[in-house]
Amino acid sequence: MTIDLHTHSSASDGTQAPAELVAEAAAAGLSMIALTDHDTTAGWEEAGEAAVREGVALVRGIEISTSRGHRSLHLLGYLPNTDDPRLAIELARARDSRVTRMDRMVGRMAADGIPVTIEEVRAQVAPGATLGRPHIADALVAKGVVGTRDEAFATMLHDGSPYYVGHYAPDPVAAITLVRGAGGVPVLAHPFAVRGAEVTDELVAELAAAGLAGLEARHRDHSLEDTERALRLAGRHGLIVTGSSDYHGTGKLNRLGEHTTEPREWSRIVEQSHGVKVIGEGGSVRKVRR
Ligand code: AMP
Ligand code: ZN
Ligand code: FE
Ligand code: FE
Repeated sequence: MTIDLHTHSSASDGTQAPAELVAEAAAAGLSMIALTDHDTTAGWEEAGEAAVREGVALVRGIEISTSRGHRSLHLLGYLPNTDDPRLAIELARARDSRVTRMDRMVGRMAADGIPVTIEEVRAQVAPGATLGRPHIADALVAKGVVGTRDEAFATMLHDGSPYYVGHYAPDPVAAITLVRGAGGVPVLAHPFAVRGAEVTDELVAELAAAGLAGLEARHRDHSLEDTERALRLAGRHGLIVTGSSDYHGTGKLNRLGEHTTEPREWSRIVEQSHGVKVIGEGGSVRKVRR
């Protein structure tokens, strides 16, 4: 029973199509993966069909970008009902804002002499996918301006870059409320990975009181201390603990299954969900669900 609850496909900034991602998960011997593309559920259908074919259980999820002050926080939402209009409207608003934000970032870069156009960025994006900075990186790699996504982020796409432009993102409490309202289960992704200002113990307490279900404690971007702090806070607030890869295909070093979630913790997520169901569950998964 190997469970990886955080992966991206080409429906956002992963490099593999949803079906390819699921096939890779099967080949890697994973029993269950969650597809958690940024601000979209566009990959769900293709991934669901592949999950049945490949014999991998698919948890339909999302990763919502949220922001509070100078802090950017990513909220994973598991098994939400996408028919819920409030959640759908908020996700669409974020995706729309990412379009204008992309124009502005590319405009700033071009004005500074970096040879990149919005058409070249668009050429890197699958139809209907959520736009993100990694797509600018891919356009720069395709032109030979940089060698890798990592290099593009380190030199010109990081949050402190003069080319950086933000996009609309809801407050984390609002996002938690939306996920719960859609019957989903909200888990804070990589809470202590450095992204803007530090996430304080007080903020975690506030989010827990607002309905946060869990913390992604084990993640490549966490130090041992970060993981221990997440485990401590989860204990204090009765939160579920997860570990996941945050796989982005060839776009990042993260390997599928490099961190995993205990079946016991997964069963706590399922117990709290009343949105959509897991697809393609095998016998071992059913046992976990009791
Ligand atoms: P955005 O959503 O447009 O703000 O872009 C953020 C995304 O860029 C995150 O989801 C990360 O997966 C990705 N990202 C951040 N830093 C790097 C990096 N150094 N290399 C590759 N991808 C990155
Ligand atoms: Zn990403
Ligand atoms: Fe994230
Ligand atoms: Fe992610």
